[in-house]
Amino acid sequence: MIRFEQVSKNFPNGTFAVKSLDFEIKKGEFFVLIGPSGSGKTTTLKMINRLIELTKGWVWINGKKISDYDINVLRWNIGYVLQQIALFPHMTIAENIAVVPELKNWDNEKITARVDDLLNMVGLNPKEYRNRKPSELSGGQQQRVGVIRALAADPEIILMDEPFSALDPFSREKLQDDMLEIQRKLKKTIVFVTHDMQEALKLGDRICLMKDGEIVQVGSPHELLANPENDFVREFVGNRKLSINLNELITAVTEGQVLSDTNTISLSAPINEVLEHLASFEQVFVKDNGKVIGMIQRQNTLKVMSQFLREGGQIHE
Ligand code: ADP
Ligand code: MG
Repeated sequence: MIRFEQVSKNFPNGTFAVKSLDFEIKKGEFFVLIGPSGSGKTTTLKMINRLIELTKGWVWINGKKISDYDINVLRWNIGYVLQQIALFPHMTIAENIAVVPELKNWDNEKITARVDDLLNMVGLNPKEYRNRKPSELSGGQQQRVGVIRALAADPEIILMDEPFSALDPFSREKLQDDMLEIQRKLKKTIVFVTHDMQEALKLGDRICLMKDGEIVQVGSPHELLANPENDFVREFVGNRKLSINLNELITAVTEGQVLSDTNTISLSAPINEVLEHLASFEQVFVKDNGKVIGMIQRQNTLKVMSQFLREGGQIHE
């Protein structure tokens, strides 16, 4: 869907922002770019909608070079959400959301229906919020509007640059949950920049870890946790002591779930073995003394682990 081929960017002042990026983002994927400050995440993101022109290489969207697209068509088809809330202050919430649909000449009825749908989707009652000004909303609510505004004209791709990093922990978590829900429903292709590993683990189908303008590792959350490619990855995802009790991750097996030998582990298995299994299977069954006592699910494990890390927990193998 979005393919980077040998992409480099050096700015006129000589800064090499990214070097020889090669990767592909699949349709419908939640793809997270993560790395320390200055590692090239924003530059990578902005090259996708041509806010930054590349110096070398090609970016392809749906098999067509981005340089071959009409720039307006390209941008309308790519939603963009920034860290700082960028709503137009003099316009109502509804007008803010309707900017791109208006540009695309949707008729008024369709726009109104769309605005209401989107507000409902993020838990803002349209009747109450449609006609408010941005200043009459909390920071978290404003950013929620920022997210649905990017979705308004139904773009295939959404780019998000540290969209939640300025929010308080509560709003942030709420918006992360909204994003997961939106992604489940709408199956957009999302490229999401963050420097917060917990956020990346929670949201990403795949995570691309960058350092000094280069890709260090691309993989699923479990691949990064279970098989960090080098010390930098290990340190970034956390070379930590895991004091999560496996028991906390085990849920009951519901009737009719087929058991096979390939995805069964023993209750005494170390956490990295569990994670390796979860990299290939949605769930693994846990045996104690040869008897299945429950199962561990990928989604639930990620949730528990990210909560655990947020609370300052340590994981190691
Ligand atoms: P990140 O988003 O990961 O923090 P950026 O992509 O913003 O990183 O920046 C990557 C590198 O490129 C940094 O060294 C940064 O200083 C440099 N850089 C970014 N934008 C410009 C610019 N407009 N001119 C010169 N250098 C830039
Ligand atoms: Mg940045």
